[in-house]
Amino acid sequence: MYAPPPGEQTGPLRRPTPWRRRPTTGRTRLRHGEGFREHLRLGRKGLAIGIDIGGTKVAAGVVDAEGRILNEARRSTPGTDPRAVEQVIVELVEELGRGHRIWSVGIGAAGWMDLDGGTVLFSPHLAWRNEPLRENLQHLLRRPVLLANDADAAAWAEWRFGAGQGEDRMVCITLGTGIGGAMVMDGRVERGRFGVAGEFGHQIIMPGGHRCECGNRGCWEQYASGNALGREARILARANSPVAQDLLAAVGGNTDIITGAIVTDLALAGDAASRELIDEVGEWLGLGLANLAAALDPGLFVIGGGLCSAGDLLVEPARKAFSRNLTGRGFRPAAGIQLAALGPNAGLIGAADLSRVSSRVRA
Ligand SMILES: [Zn+2]
Repeated sequence: MYAPPPGEQTGPLRRPTPWRRRPTTGRTRLRHGEGFREHLRLGRKGLAIGIDIGGTKVAAGVVDAEGRILNEARRSTPGTDPRAVEQVIVELVEELGRGHRIWSVGIGAAGWMDLDGGTVLFSPHLAWRNEPLRENLQHLLRRPVLLANDADAAAWAEWRFGAGQGEDRMVCITLGTGIGGAMVMDGRVERGRFGVAGEFGHQIIMPGGHRCECGNRGCWEQYASGNALGREARILARANSPVAQDLLAAVGGNTDIITGAIVTDLALAGDAASRELIDEVGEWLGLGLANLAAALDPGLFVIGGGLCSAGDLLVEPARKAFSRNLTGRGFRPAAGIQLAALGPNAGLIGAADLSRVSSRVRA
Protein backbone atom coordinates (compact mmCIF):
# COMPACT_ATOMS: atom_id res chain seq x y z
CA MET A 1 0.00 0.00 0.00
CA TYR A 2 1.19 3.48 -0.84
CA ALA A 3 2.40 5.46 2.14
CA PRO A 4 3.26 9.10 1.57
CA PRO A 5 6.62 10.15 2.92
CA PRO A 6 6.64 11.99 6.25
CA GLY A 7 5.50 15.55 5.90
CA GLU A 8 3.19 14.81 2.95
CA GLN A 9 0.41 12.98 4.75
CA THR A 10 -2.93 14.47 3.89
CA GLY A 11 -6.45 13.75 5.02
CA PRO A 12 -9.55 15.34 6.42
CA LEU A 13 -8.29 15.25 10.00
CA ARG A 14 -4.88 16.76 9.27
CA ARG A 15 -4.58 20.47 9.07
CA PRO A 16 -1.42 22.10 7.87
CA THR A 17 0.82 22.99 10.79
CA PRO A 18 0.55 26.71 11.42
CA TRP A 19 3.70 28.62 10.54
CA ARG A 20 5.75 29.63 13.50
CA ARG A 21 8.63 32.06 13.51
CA ARG A 22 11.00 30.13 15.70
CA PRO A 23 10.70 26.97 17.77
CA THR A 24 10.62 27.81 21.45
CA THR A 25 11.62 24.45 22.88
CA GLY A 26 14.47 22.02 22.61
CA ARG A 27 18.03 22.89 21.76
CA THR A 28 17.06 26.07 19.93
CA ARG A 29 15.28 27.55 22.93
CA LEU A 30 15.16 31.33 22.64
CA ARG A 31 17.40 33.32 24.87
CA HIS A 32 15.54 35.67 27.19
CA GLY A 33 14.33 38.54 25.05
CA GLU A 34 15.21 36.94 21.75
CA GLY A 35 11.58 36.97 20.60
CA PHE A 36 11.52 40.75 20.81
CA ARG A 37 14.30 40.99 18.25
CA GLU A 38 12.42 39.18 15.51
CA HIS A 39 11.02 42.29 13.84
CA LEU A 40 14.50 43.75 13.60
CA ARG A 41 15.68 40.94 11.36
CA LEU A 42 12.98 41.58 8.80
CA GLY A 43 13.04 44.02 5.96
CA ARG A 44 15.69 46.47 4.96
CA LYS A 45 19.31 45.96 5.73
CA GLY A 46 20.26 49.37 4.45
CA LEU A 47 22.61 51.95 5.87
CA ALA A 48 21.64 54.83 8.12
CA ILE A 49 23.48 57.88 9.35
CA GLY A 50 23.58 58.53 13.08
CA ILE A 51 24.32 61.99 14.44
CA ASP A 52 25.10 62.66 18.08
CA ILE A 53 24.77 66.33 19.02
CA GLY A 54 26.71 67.14 22.16
CA GLY A 55 27.31 70.41 23.97
CA THR A 56 30.69 70.89 22.26
CA LYS A 57 30.80 68.57 19.24
CA VAL A 58 28.59 66.92 16.66
CA ALA A 59 29.67 63.36 15.79
CA ALA A 60 28.22 61.53 12.80
CA GLY A 61 28.71 58.12 11.21
CA VAL A 62 27.38 55.79 8.54
CA VAL A 63 26.11 52.70 10.38
CA ASP A 64 25.18 49.34 8.86
CA ALA A 65 22.50 46.93 10.05
CA GLU A 66 25.01 45.16 12.32
CA GLY A 67 25.89 48.36 14.17
CA ARG A 68 29.27 48.83 12.49
CA ILE A 69 30.47 52.34 11.69
CA LEU A 70 31.66 52.49 8.07
CA ASN A 71 32.61 56.15 7.92
CA GLU A 72 32.78 59.00 10.45
CA ALA A 73 32.89 62.78 10.55
CA ARG A 74 32.90 65.44 13.26
CA ARG A 75 32.18 69.16 13.64
CA SER A 76 32.12 71.49 16.61
CA THR A 77 28.63 72.42 17.81
CA PRO A 78 27.81 75.79 16.22
CA GLY A 79 26.42 77.65 19.21
CA THR A 80 22.78 77.30 20.10
CA ASP A 81 21.01 78.63 16.99
CA PRO A 82 18.69 75.86 15.67
CA ARG A 83 19.22 76.92 12.02
CA ALA A 84 23.01 76.69 12.35
CA VAL A 85 22.71 73.22 13.91
CA GLU A 86 20.43 72.12 11.06
CA GLN A 87 23.01 73.39 8.60
CA VAL A 88 25.77 71.32 10.22
CA ILE A 89 23.53 68.24 10.11
CA VAL A 90 22.88 68.77 6.39
CA GLU A 91 26.60 69.17 5.69
CA LEU A 92 27.47 66.01 7.59
CA VAL A 93 24.80 63.95 5.81
CA GLU A 94 25.96 65.22 2.42
CA GLU A 95 29.59 64.49 3.24
CA LEU A 96 28.97 61.01 4.64
CA GLY A 97 26.29 60.10 2.11
CA ARG A 98 28.64 60.24 -0.84
CA GLY A 99 29.23 56.73 -2.08
CA HIS A 100 26.61 55.17 0.20
CA ARG A 101 22.92 54.58 -0.19
CA ILE A 102 21.45 56.03 2.98
CA TRP A 103 17.90 55.05 4.04
CA SER A 104 17.41 57.27 7.01
CA VAL A 105 19.00 59.65 9.49
CA GLY A 106 18.81 59.37 13.27
CA ILE A 107 19.68 62.28 15.52
CA GLY A 108 20.48 61.91 19.20
CA ALA A 109 20.66 64.93 21.48
CA ALA A 110 20.35 65.69 25.15
CA GLY A 111 16.81 66.72 25.96
CA TRP A 112 13.24 65.62 25.56
CA MET A 113 11.69 64.63 22.26
CA ASP A 114 8.00 64.08 21.74
CA LEU A 115 6.87 60.48 21.57
CA ASP A 116 6.95 60.10 17.81
CA GLY A 117 10.44 61.53 17.44
CA GLY A 118 9.46 64.63 15.49
CA THR A 119 9.77 67.59 17.83
CA VAL A 120 12.41 68.61 20.35
CA LEU A 121 10.46 69.69 23.43
CA PHE A 122 13.50 70.90 25.33
CA SER A 123 17.23 70.60 24.92
CA PRO A 124 19.51 72.02 27.61
CA HIS A 125 22.50 72.81 25.38
CA LEU A 126 20.79 73.86 22.18
CA ALA A 127 18.06 76.39 22.93
CA TRP A 128 15.55 74.17 21.15
CA ARG A 129 12.06 74.72 22.54
CA ASN A 130 9.21 72.92 20.79
CA GLU A 131 11.35 72.82 17.65
CA PRO A 132 9.79 70.75 14.79
CA LEU A 133 13.26 69.62 13.81
CA ARG A 134 12.26 66.47 11.97
CA GLU A 135 9.98 68.22 9.54
CA ASN A 136 12.65 70.79 8.71
CA LEU A 137 15.31 68.14 8.29
CA GLN A 138 13.23 65.69 6.26
CA HIS A 139 12.56 68.54 3.89
CA LEU A 140 16.27 69.36 3.63
CA LEU A 141 17.60 65.78 3.57
CA ARG A 142 14.80 64.09 1.59
CA ARG A 143 15.01 61.05 3.85
CA PRO A 144 13.15 59.76 6.95
CA VAL A 145 14.56 61.41 10.08
CA LEU A 146 14.16 60.32 13.69
CA LEU A 147 14.97 62.38 16.77
CA ALA A 148 15.97 60.53 19.92
CA ASN A 149 17.16 61.43 23.36
CA ASP A 150 20.91 60.68 23.45
CA ALA A 151 20.65 58.36 26.46
CA ASP A 152 17.82 56.43 24.76
CA ALA A 153 19.91 56.09 21.60
CA ALA A 154 22.94 54.80 23.53
CA ALA A 155 20.77 52.32 25.44
CA TRP A 156 19.27 51.03 22.21
CA ALA A 157 22.75 50.50 20.77
CA GLU A 158 23.89 48.61 23.85
CA TRP A 159 20.81 46.42 23.72
CA ARG A 160 21.16 45.69 20.02
CA PHE A 161 24.91 45.32 19.64
CA GLY A 162 26.61 45.72 23.02
CA ALA A 163 26.43 44.71 26.67
CA GLY A 164 22.63 44.33 26.70
CA GLN A 165 22.33 41.64 24.03
CA GLY A 166 20.16 38.78 25.23
CA GLU A 167 18.45 40.76 28.01
CA ASP A 168 15.00 42.16 27.34
CA ARG A 169 14.58 44.29 30.44
CA MET A 170 17.59 46.53 30.58
CA VAL A 171 18.29 49.84 32.28
CA CYS A 172 21.17 51.90 30.99
CA ILE A 173 22.91 54.51 33.16
CA THR A 174 25.30 57.00 31.56
CA LEU A 175 27.73 58.62 33.98
CA GLY A 176 29.14 61.86 32.63
CA THR A 177 28.88 65.34 34.04
CA GLY A 178 25.45 64.23 35.26
CA ILE A 179 23.57 60.93 35.06
CA GLY A 180 21.66 59.93 31.93
CA GLY A 181 19.09 57.17 32.14
CA ALA A 182 17.21 55.04 29.63
CA MET A 183 15.34 51.75 29.48
CA VAL A 184 14.89 49.15 26.78
CA MET A 185 11.95 46.98 27.78
CA ASP A 186 10.57 44.12 25.66
CA GLY A 187 12.28 45.27 22.50
CA ARG A 188 11.55 48.96 22.59
CA VAL A 189 12.78 52.09 24.29
CA GLU A 190 10.49 52.79 27.23
CA ARG A 191 9.87 56.52 27.40
CA GLY A 192 6.84 56.89 29.63
CA ARG A 193 3.53 58.56 28.82
CA PHE A 194 4.96 61.89 27.63
CA GLY A 195 8.36 60.83 26.35
CA VAL A 196 10.36 62.09 29.29
CA ALA A 197 11.00 58.94 31.37
CA GLY A 198 14.45 57.99 32.55
CA GLU A 199 15.48 61.03 34.57
CA PHE A 200 17.00 58.77 37.18
CA GLY A 201 19.76 61.26 37.96
CA HIS A 202 17.23 63.43 39.76
CA GLN A 203 15.92 60.87 42.21
CA ILE A 204 16.51 62.46 45.61
CA ILE A 205 18.92 60.21 47.38
CA MET A 206 20.02 62.57 50.17
CA PRO A 207 17.31 64.95 51.39
CA GLY A 208 18.84 68.35 52.10
CA GLY A 209 22.05 67.35 50.30
CA HIS A 210 24.02 69.11 47.58
CA ARG A 211 22.11 71.58 45.44
CA CYS A 212 21.36 70.30 41.92
CA GLU A 213 20.98 72.24 38.66
CA CYS A 214 17.37 71.07 38.53
CA GLY A 215 16.61 73.17 41.61
CA ASN A 216 16.24 70.35 44.13
CA ARG A 217 18.71 69.20 46.72
CA GLY A 218 20.29 65.78 47.10
CA CYS A 219 19.78 64.39 43.58
CA TRP A 220 21.60 61.16 42.72
CA GLU A 221 23.71 62.85 40.08
CA GLN A 222 25.19 65.11 42.74
CA TYR A 223 26.71 61.98 44.30
CA ALA A 224 27.37 59.42 41.55
CA SER A 225 28.54 61.38 38.49
CA GLY A 226 31.82 62.66 37.04
CA ASN A 227 31.00 66.11 38.43
CA ALA A 228 30.46 64.66 41.90
CA LEU A 229 33.82 62.92 41.72
CA GLY A 230 35.56 66.16 40.70
CA ARG A 231 33.83 68.15 43.45
CA GLU A 232 34.80 65.68 46.19
CA ALA A 233 38.39 65.57 44.92
CA ARG A 234 38.61 69.38 44.99
CA ILE A 235 37.32 69.44 48.56
CA LEU A 236 39.88 66.83 49.57
CA ALA A 237 42.72 68.66 47.83
CA ARG A 238 41.80 72.02 49.34
CA ALA A 239 41.82 70.49 52.80
CA ASN A 240 45.52 70.03 52.11
CA SER A 241 45.33 66.53 53.48
CA PRO A 242 48.56 64.51 53.22
CA VAL A 243 46.62 61.80 51.34
CA ALA A 244 45.91 64.31 48.54
CA GLN A 245 49.56 64.95 47.64
CA ASP A 246 49.46 63.02 44.35
CA LEU A 247 46.27 64.81 43.40
CA LEU A 248 47.80 68.22 44.12
CA ALA A 249 50.97 67.31 42.25
CA ALA A 250 48.96 66.23 39.18
CA VAL A 251 47.39 69.70 38.86
CA GLY A 252 50.43 71.72 39.95
CA GLY A 253 48.64 72.84 43.12
CA ASN A 254 45.73 74.40 41.19
CA THR A 255 42.77 72.65 42.78
CA ASP A 256 40.28 74.50 40.53
CA ILE A 257 41.21 72.36 37.53
CA ILE A 258 40.65 68.99 39.20
CA THR A 259 38.00 67.02 37.29
CA GLY A 260 36.53 63.55 37.53
CA ALA A 261 38.65 62.50 34.54
CA ILE A 262 41.90 63.50 36.31
CA VAL A 263 40.87 61.58 39.43
CA THR A 264 40.01 58.54 37.29
CA ASP A 265 43.43 58.59 35.61
CA LEU A 266 45.20 58.87 38.97
CA ALA A 267 43.13 56.03 40.40
CA LEU A 268 44.00 53.80 37.45
CA ALA A 269 47.67 54.67 38.02
CA GLY A 270 47.31 53.44 41.60
CA ASP A 271 46.79 56.60 43.71
CA ALA A 272 45.11 55.46 46.93
CA ALA A 273 43.19 58.69 47.64
CA SER A 274 41.73 58.78 44.11
CA ARG A 275 40.70 55.15 44.46
CA GLU A 276 38.90 55.97 47.69
CA LEU A 277 37.05 58.82 45.98
CA ILE A 278 35.91 56.51 43.16
CA ASP A 279 34.97 53.87 45.70
CA GLU A 280 32.64 56.38 47.34
CA VAL A 281 31.04 57.32 44.00
CA GLY A 282 30.62 53.59 43.27
CA GLU A 283 28.76 53.14 46.56
CA TRP A 284 26.35 55.97 45.72
CA LEU A 285 25.91 54.40 42.29
CA GLY A 286 25.00 51.02 43.80
CA LEU A 287 22.55 52.62 46.24
CA GLY A 288 20.71 54.39 43.42
CA LEU A 289 20.64 51.21 41.34
CA ALA A 290 19.02 49.37 44.26
CA ASN A 291 16.28 52.03 44.30
CA LEU A 292 15.78 51.56 40.56
CA ALA A 293 15.63 47.78 40.95
CA ALA A 294 12.91 48.18 43.59
CA ALA A 295 10.84 50.15 41.09
CA LEU A 296 11.68 48.53 37.74
CA ASP A 297 13.07 45.04 38.40
CA PRO A 298 15.34 44.92 35.33
CA GLY A 299 17.51 41.94 34.42
CA LEU A 300 20.56 44.07 33.77
CA PHE A 301 22.01 47.49 34.46
CA VAL A 302 24.46 48.68 31.83
CA ILE A 303 26.78 51.45 33.04
CA GLY A 304 28.21 53.73 30.36
CA GLY A 305 29.69 57.20 30.03
CA GLY A 306 33.08 58.77 30.69
CA LEU A 307 33.33 57.63 34.30
CA CYS A 308 33.29 54.03 33.08
CA SER A 309 36.95 54.21 32.22
CA ALA A 310 37.46 53.55 35.96
CA GLY A 311 36.19 50.01 35.20
CA ASP A 312 36.08 47.66 38.17
CA LEU A 313 37.29 50.39 40.52
CA LEU A 314 33.82 51.87 40.07
CA VAL A 315 31.66 48.84 39.37
CA GLU A 316 32.85 46.56 42.19
CA PRO A 317 31.85 48.95 45.01
CA ALA A 318 28.61 49.61 43.10
CA ARG A 319 27.83 45.88 43.02
CA LYS A 320 28.50 45.58 46.76
CA ALA A 321 26.35 48.58 47.66
CA PHE A 322 23.62 47.31 45.32
CA SER A 323 23.54 43.91 47.06
CA ARG A 324 23.54 45.56 50.50
CA ASN A 325 20.62 47.85 49.69
CA LEU A 326 18.46 45.74 47.39
CA THR A 327 14.99 45.31 48.77
CA GLY A 328 14.11 41.66 49.39
CA ARG A 329 17.77 40.66 49.01
CA GLY A 330 18.35 36.96 49.40
CA PHE A 331 14.79 36.19 48.31
CA ARG A 332 14.85 37.41 44.72
CA PRO A 333 17.05 37.15 41.67
CA ALA A 334 19.20 40.27 41.40
CA ALA A 335 19.96 42.24 38.25
CA GLY A 336 23.46 42.12 36.83
CA ILE A 337 25.60 45.27 36.65
CA GLN A 338 27.86 45.44 33.58
CA LEU A 339 29.98 48.06 31.92
CA ALA A 340 28.79 49.32 28.54
CA ALA A 341 30.53 47.74 25.56
CA LEU A 342 30.29 50.31 22.77
CA GLY A 343 32.08 53.35 24.20
CA PRO A 344 31.42 56.95 23.17
CA ASN A 345 29.96 56.02 19.76
CA ALA A 346 26.96 54.24 21.30
CA GLY A 347 24.78 57.35 20.85
CA LEU A 348 25.31 57.71 17.14
CA ILE A 349 25.07 53.96 16.49
CA GLY A 350 21.78 53.80 18.39
CA ALA A 351 20.32 56.90 16.70
CA ALA A 352 21.15 55.45 13.27
CA ASP A 353 19.68 52.05 14.09
CA LEU A 354 16.51 53.49 15.63
CA SER A 355 15.94 55.57 12.50
CA ARG A 356 16.46 52.52 10.29
CA VAL A 357 14.02 50.41 12.30
CA SER A 358 11.37 53.11 12.67
CA SER A 359 11.55 54.28 9.06
CA ARG A 360 10.77 50.70 8.07
CA VAL A 361 7.82 50.60 10.45
CA ARG A 362 6.45 53.86 9.07
CA ALA A 363 7.03 52.90 5.42
ZN1 LIG B 1 18.42 67.29 40.24
